[in-house]
Amino acid sequence: MAIIVDLDKCTACGLCVEACPFGVLRLEGERLIIGDGCNLCGACVEVCEFGALALPATAAPEPRPEVPPDGIWVFAEQRHGRLAPVALELLGEARRLAEILRVPVSAVLFGHQIHDLATELTAAGADKVYVVDHPRLAEFLEEPYAQALIELARRCQPEIILAGATYPGRAFIPRVAAALDTGLTADCTAFDLDLEKRLLLQTRPAFGGNIMATIVTPRSFPQMATVRPRVMKRLAPQPERNGQVVPVQVAALDEPGKSRFLQTVAEITETVPLGEAEVIVAGGRGLQDGKHFSLLEELAELLGGAIGATRGAVDAGWISYPHQIGQTGKTVAPKLYMACGISGAAQHLVGIQSSDFIVAINSDPQAPIFQIADVGLVGDLFEIIPALIQEIKASR
Ligand SMILES: Cc1cc2nc3c(=O)[nH]c(=O)nc-3n(C[C@H](O)[C@H](O)[C@H](O)COP(=O)(O)OP(=O)(O)OC[C@H]3O[C@@H](n4cnc5c(N)ncnc54)[C@H](O)[C@@H]3O)c2cc1C
Repeated sequence: MAIIVDLDKCTACGLCVEACPFGVLRLEGERLIIGDGCNLCGACVEVCEFGALALPATAAPEPRPEVPPDGIWVFAEQRHGRLAPVALELLGEARRLAEILRVPVSAVLFGHQIHDLATELTAAGADKVYVVDHPRLAEFLEEPYAQALIELARRCQPEIILAGATYPGRAFIPRVAAALDTGLTADCTAFDLDLEKRLLLQTRPAFGGNIMATIVTPRSFPQMATVRPRVMKRLAPQPERNGQVVPVQVAALDEPGKSRFLQTVAEITETVPLGEAEVIVAGGRGLQDGKHFSLLEELAELLGGAIGATRGAVDAGWISYPHQIGQTGKTVAPKLYMACGISGAAQHLVGIQSSDFIVAINSDPQAPIFQIADVGLVGDLFEIIPALIQEIKASR
């Protein structure tokens, strides 16, 4: 079954060739050739201004295909021409899943004048990059971003869509899932696959972080999930990797939207670069008083690190919320995480599990933090930390 071409109406204008997300259309002289790999998505039919193309009568896509044809998609979030690190992390995870499912990985890049980012995405693991370049996508707005992803997903039918649980991801991905009439699991921390049923097993903390729940959406496609930054590991970039860049037009974007971008107002708040810190010295209720954070600050300064905290310490008013790490705070992945007077509640651990090396200082040998620590120091932090500080100073 193939696209029906009315040769009398076709002017060989080439619009359909540009619009084909799979690059299977080409012009040979005045003749339109439909190559192998056409999945009858209808993108060419939509853009043809002369009514020369039509889908065969029975080719309307099934609303819930058993195995949708377009593999795993990663929403490649970017802002002002810089990719969000979570996009690269998700491509790493998508690659792992794709090897098992034997499907391609595509990055979906929205913005204006952002084509340059496509090579970064292919180097990070994308086989294909769908680029929707439109002035309405220059700044993040829920409505046009949702319109673009909904239209693209309906057209190409990916099996899985992954996005960052960032501000934009949290804002527009639920709209997309609702419009596609499918499920969405937010804030996943791990993925696995049920190969027999081709289901994505989506694990996330539930019931206040006390259990890890594995969620499946067995009756709807695509399977959609969001993941917080720094939970998944990105692959080492492979600049020599080749990928296909597919510019896509989304008709809905040419309609005037209900919302429009006015301006960005810088948030006036304390900023703690926890997300980028290679060393984090974090304190909990074991510090016994806010003033004792000065001890951690001295250690952090010597190690070139940032200060983190548990919700216990934040709730006690000892330190401000931007320092909070965990389920309701930030997710971090430093090379060294020092947990000082922190018990290791599940809600805290979920934010530090991607750390490379964890040192825990706690007076209680039964504290759960020791179960995930690489090095555990059982003792009084008010003795151990000053001794550490002294040792570091002496060694320099
Ligand atoms: C929905 C929900 C979301 C949550 N989100 C978060 C979150 O994002 N982040 C977060 O951190 N928590 C979160 N929590 C709270 C979490 O459950 C814990 O209550 C919190 O992490 C405990 O903080 P803590 O380790 O500082 O305090 P505690 O659990 O009281 O632990 C203090 C530790 O200090 C040790 N200690 C005491 N004195 C000393 C000393 N002198 N020297 C050495 N060790 C000492 C003790 O042995 C103890 O292990 C959340 C809870 C819920 C219900």
